[in-house]
Amino acid sequence: MEKFNQEFRDRQIAITSDIEGGNAYDFKKYPGNIYSFTPRRDPGENYSGQVYYFKLQVENLQKDIANVTITAIADYDEIWKGWQPSLNPKIWIFSPNRLKIPEILTQDRVKSTPRSMSINLTLQPFEKIIISNMFTPPYSELVQELHDLAETYPTFLKLNEIGQSPLGNKMYSIRVNPQGESDNLFKILVGGTSQANEFGDYAAIVILQGFLDMGAVFWDNFTTKFSLEFIFFQNPDGMVQGMNMVNANRENLFFSHFHENQSMPLENEIIWNHIKANPPELYLEMHSFFQDHKTIRPYLYPLELLSEKKNRKFYLKIAKALVKYSNGMKEEIHLNQKYFQDTLCYRLMEKFQTYSFQYKLHSGMSINQKKLIAWDVFYLCIKNLKKMV
Ligand SMILES: [Zn+2]
Repeated sequence: MEKFNQEFRDRQIAITSDIEGGNAYDFKKYPGNIYSFTPRRDPGENYSGQVYYFKLQVENLQKDIANVTITAIADYDEIWKGWQPSLNPKIWIFSPNRLKIPEILTQDRVKSTPRSMSINLTLQPFEKIIISNMFTPPYSELVQELHDLAETYPTFLKLNEIGQSPLGNKMYSIRVNPQGESDNLFKILVGGTSQANEFGDYAAIVILQGFLDMGAVFWDNFTTKFSLEFIFFQNPDGMVQGMNMVNANRENLFFSHFHENQSMPLENEIIWNHIKANPPELYLEMHSFFQDHKTIRPYLYPLELLSEKKNRKFYLKIAKALVKYSNGMKEEIHLNQKYFQDTLCYRLMEKFQTYSFQYKLHSGMSINQKKLIAWDVFYLCIKNLKKMV
């Protein structure tokens, strides 16, 4: 496998991709404390507009404050297509230390040109920061979050390892109130996308946390009608290796949920085998992207996949609520649509008549906005389901 992890250091600064998810390379130094790197093109770019996602660490090696400029240099002009209008300095910088944002950079300190994009940093003595153009918390920290939550709620949450990726990274499920589960409850499943830089797993954790924050009265009410499960890390190797569409074997997971008689990437097989043992009535999958004008939107799957009229009505009802919440924005997937017919949402709807929705947050929004929307989307589904189930 190619080795992307590279490093540059002088007396003042060390820049490295040798961190979890790090992927920048070709570091160079210019006069005036300017350092550059090349963002790596995502191997799955044929299927994605998110060609470049980068993450690297900058460290001040001295006991004085350092002012440096870090510049991403692209190999073609279209690199920031769709990103420029939505670049949000708040996601340009984050600390690996438990998702706390150390400082917010003002907009005028980020400058971009068609072929490069820079950020000016003031680094405290010996300070180390990670910069990225996407907010992508490291896999290892999210795993820790799951373990922490399971420990805090030892009977109410059940954390299970459901399999391991080709690189041996674990994939998990969390079932809520496992003792109360029964066949006559309406089963809801929430997951993050396998597109590893899209904030999906973190959004799923946000939803779980939001659910837990609602407290006992809400839970009691909820668990009389519903059961709830979360699946985490559909592409853990992609997260660890700093990729978006592909896993460590360069397989495009998101578009490779093939029919059962075809061979699937290992991660997809793990997910599918886990889900088919107890398929959900509703599946909500969280994504993010740099779509225009900071819009958010649901992806709706073909109604024709649902064989019964009452189920189509049911699907439409939730779809309508999500579209209304998104100021009318939506994406409609068609029957047998190329690539999308091999997504998990499509397959679940086809095989188990699961009401499947993707929801796309905006990658340029602040973390708080994204958290708010992720919770709202889940809550909206519950609110509408309650009227129908
Ligand atoms: Zn996506």
